[in-house]
This record gives sequence, C-alpha cells and structure tokens, in this order.
Amino acid sequence: MNTTESAPRQPLLTARDLRKTYGSTPALSGASAELHAGEILALTGPSGSGKSTLLHCVAGIVRPDHGTVMYRDERLEHAPEERLSELRRTEFAVVFQFGQLIPELTAVDNVSLPLILNGTDRRAAQEQARTWLERFGVLGRAEARPGELSGGQAQRVALARALVTGPKAVFADEPTGALDSLAGEQVMAELTSAARELGAAVLLVTHDATVAAYADREIRLTDGRTAALEVSA
Ligand code: ADP
Ligand code: MG
Repeated sequence: MNTTESAPRQPLLTARDLRKTYGSTPALSGASAELHAGEILALTGPSGSGKSTLLHCVAGIVRPDHGTVMYRDERLEHAPEERLSELRRTEFAVVFQFGQLIPELTAVDNVSLPLILNGTDRRAAQEQARTWLERFGVLGRAEARPGELSGGQAQRVALARALVTGPKAVFADEPTGALDSLAGEQVMAELTSAARELGAAVLLVTHDATVAAYADREIRLTDGRTAALEVSA
C-alpha cells in the first residue's frame, strides 16, 4: 500500500541514467525512462541510437555499465542471474523482430513451453496455448512448425508465447520489422488489444511512426540519450 498521500503511482519499471559501452562504441550514454503498469510506451529513434540496448537493459537481458533499473521496489541492474531469468519466465516477456520460435517445435508446443518451464503440466499448458493461438487467429496452424508459417503467422505465435504466462511487462523489439505494412498493422492491433485486456505494459521499440502510433506515449533516443525525463512528481 502506498503510504505517501497524493504520491504519484509508482512506475512498474524505471531506468535512470543508463550507460553502456561495447568496446569503444557507446550504445547508451544517459538514457532514462519510466514504464507504468498497463501502458504502451514507444521507444523510437534512428538505427544505432541505442533502442535495443535500452530494451535489453530494462528487461534484465543486458547489464548497464552505469545507472539503475528498478522493477517496482527491486533493483535489477545487480540482481542475481537466477532472479533475472525467473522474471523473464514469469512477469516479463519478449517479442523480437524475427519471432525466434524454436524451429523443431510445433506452434502449440512453442507457446506451451513457457508454462511448462514454470511447472504447469503439459496437458493444461497445451490447453492454454490453444486458447492464445485462437485469440490470435492461428489455432488452425497449431501443429505447424515455424518454418511452415508465414511471417505474420509466426509473429502471432510469438505474441501468444509472450502473453500466455500473463506477464506484467512485454518488451517488443521491432515486432513488425520483418512484416509488410498490412501484416504489421494487424500484428500491432492484436498485440496492443491483448496487452490492454491483460493489463500488461508494453515497451515497444520501433523506428516506424505507424507502429509508434499504437502507443500511449513515446520516448525518443538520440545517440544513446533520451530527451530530459518527464518529471512525474
Ligand atoms: P538500435 O536498436 O537503436 O538500432 P542498438 O542498441 O542495437 O541500437 O545499438 C546501439 C549501438 O551499440 C550501435 O552502435 C551498435 O552497433 C552498438 N551495439 C549494440 N549491441 C552491440 C553488441 N552486442 N556488440 C557491439 N556493439 C553493439
Ligand atoms: Mg535495435
């Protein structure tokens, strides 16, 4: 419970002054952002501006060299690897440009996998997976392997896999980057409506203004820096 009267709601995720260098290449040089519960936040900027690095830092995939990442009351930048992988299995989910489905597994098995890793028995996991495949209009492809799916179908399976665990935060890095514009818009519409239904926040990395238009708010990165953080207090 929040004990401070009239305090603004605590963000779900807060990144402050993140810096990250790869060799001599600065990827982030002072990036800050807040992601609130249930909001869809677009992270935009030119290629090479540090969007993916920022997403990886807040999702606990990459450790920043400097700065803090808070998930609710928890500091993530130094959290043990086991805790980060637990979060990535449960409260966080990722969707990448190329679905990164497991090629040997059928669509329904790909979507069941996160549940099975969390201890759900196979039968129940498959049932939930089918519900999500149906939600995204690809139940008819449940037994297909990723190589047999169109790009749009594969991204819908990837969305189902991301949302099946009921995550609090979805990190989507150019999720429509490999699709034509019609398929891309359909995938965005489905991702945002499902996330809103679940109350999941989405951090959406894109360089495409049509995709960014699906977000509630936008933060721009330039040369590894975000514009001055909007102060919410
Ligand atoms: P964006 O997603 O906006 O295109 P990135 O975060 O991928 O930007 O990259 C920012 C900068 O960091 C770029 O110069 C990129 O080449 C560099 N970079 C990103 N990841 C790595 C890596 N794993 N190794 C070396 N350089 C990297
Ligand atoms: Mg990128």
